[in-house]
Amino acid sequence: MSQPRCPLCGGPGRTRLTARDRNHRITADVFRYAACERCATLFLEDVPADLGRFYPAAYYAGDGDESRSPTEQAKLAIVRRHRPDGRLVEIGPGRGGFARAAADAGYAVTGVEMDAGACRHLREDLGLEVVHSDDPAAALAGLGPVAVVALWHVIEHLRDPGATLEAAARALEPGGVLVVATPNPAALQLRLLGARWVHLDAPRHLALMPSQALAERLAPHGLELAELTEADRTGRDWNAFGWQHVLRPGTAAPVRPLTAKAGAALALAAAPLERRDGHGTTYTAVFRDTRAA
Ligand SMILES: [Zn+2]
Repeated sequence: MSQPRCPLCGGPGRTRLTARDRNHRITADVFRYAACERCATLFLEDVPADLGRFYPAAYYAGDGDESRSPTEQAKLAIVRRHRPDGRLVEIGPGRGGFARAAADAGYAVTGVEMDAGACRHLREDLGLEVVHSDDPAAALAGLGPVAVVALWHVIEHLRDPGATLEAAARALEPGGVLVVATPNPAALQLRLLGARWVHLDAPRHLALMPSQALAERLAPHGLELAELTEADRTGRDWNAFGWQHVLRPGTAAPVRPLTAKAGAALALAAAPLERRDGHGTTYTAVFRDTRAA
């Protein structure tokens, strides 16, 4: 068998763990994840050809407007402190909470979404402009120049995350920002829970990339890390979600009050560790285009 290659940097990988579809149980298959020896990205070795079948219909369910929720407002606050206005492209807006919040805040928003049902919801219920595409790099090429490109927990689902990052860098106007939120392969939860970690999400999560690896990939395109946070509201919520999740069988299972309490207690106990030294469950990285205008 040939050595697996990292989808971000092309470096050689070594098998680190195996996992099943614990979150949605669509298949009983076993999936292998390798760690890149060059950039420490954790990646799925054999990406299924038909990824679509691992996304249950309920994945995009919910037709409400979540734009006023504290989580979406926290995401908006991160973006606004770097670029308060301009054209904003969100890759994978899904149910559209953030995209709608950004539009309400004055950004000219375009979503790039692969799910047809989600596209309908974004257009018809939320009044947003959407490009229906499962090739974000190609879609971005037709959308520049933009002030902000945002990927909230999307990059880990892409077959070619490097191509999308490069396309985002090219689409940015000078001084524009790229915002990437994604699970952290250096997470304390991954070290302690291994294949039971909710954010491994086999086989939907194809690559979990360290922020440093993203920074190295983006540097040749003139992008610099402007902010890295794990302790923002969304990061804290994901920490708690991960601990709670380990106590129940799959994301489809209902959260019992006792499970929620135990999860919250675990999250509280782990918080001081998770907030230190880059071991949080997820991170949000903001990269700024440093080319002169
Ligand atoms: Zn790599």
